[in-house]
Amino acid sequence: MTLIRLTGVTKAYPAPAKGGEPVVAVDDVSLDIASGEICGIIGYSGAGKSTVLRLVNALEAPTAGAVEIDGRDITRLRERDLRALRGDIGMIFQQFNLFESRTVAGNVAYPLEVAGRTRAETAARVAELLDFVGLAAKAKSYPEQLSGGQKQRVGIARALATSPRILLADEATSALDPDTTQEVLELLRRVNRELGITILVITHEMDVIRTLADRVIVMEHGRIIESGDVFDVLSAP
Ligand code: ADP
Ligand code: ADP
Repeated sequence: MTLIRLTGVTKAYPAPAKGGEPVVAVDDVSLDIASGEICGIIGYSGAGKSTVLRLVNALEAPTAGAVEIDGRDITRLRERDLRALRGDIGMIFQQFNLFESRTVAGNVAYPLEVAGRTRAETAARVAELLDFVGLAAKAKSYPEQLSGGQKQRVGIARALATSPRILLADEATSALDPDTTQEVLELLRRVNRELGITILVITHEMDVIRTLADRVIVMEHGRIIESGDVFDVLSAP
């Protein structure tokens, strides 16, 4: 079943200088991501990968084309539906984006507080998530007391708080050393297999795609230049 579908999507940003050309970040992209799959988008800096992620979580609206989640066009949602959509999509980042003034538990609790869950519900869910990512003992620590890998595990727990169906990973291991990268990728595989969450990762690192993804999409200059099974695409001459 298709969960994420882009059909003929173009995203152009206004010209940076007066009289210049608009920047076409994403150029006539169509893609389908099935429920339960781990899909990777690889490409050099500037290829349009982050713009695709921002279109999927409705942070940007396409200039042309349609973005659908579960068969629903998300480009013209009302405020209320937009909030529901955001609860259905978790996101993790290269620099983790944790709140430094909040504890580990406070970071994971944040999306639940925004969603208006009760204190009891929040506490139970936070405990469950910290167990899942192996950080129960760090609930009262602050981000600055954690290693990079631990910070990303907090990021993952926070992204999962509202039980989304989709997890978007934006260069999620690019700030980590190779061993820590493997640990985080292993956790992401558990997120996919044990929780059934569909994962879309963008990266410039071939190894991340090889280790994690079922399928890869290669982007260049805003276009998809290749896509398919990871082994077939990345072993092609
Ligand atoms: P990637 O994630 O593959 O590095 P991006 O999606 O960030 O690529 O960027 C694609 C192109 O769009 C780049 O040329 C970039 O400079 C441009 N771009 C991205 N975001 C904006 C923005 N908010 N305003 C103007 N141009 C942007
Ligand atoms: P902060 O002061 O950073 O906001 P708190 O310690 O107040 O963080 O905790 C925020 C949320 O996390 C609360 O909703 C609380 O229920 C939950 N929480 C706090 N400590 C734990 C813990 N050890 N295990 C599970 N949940 C916790």
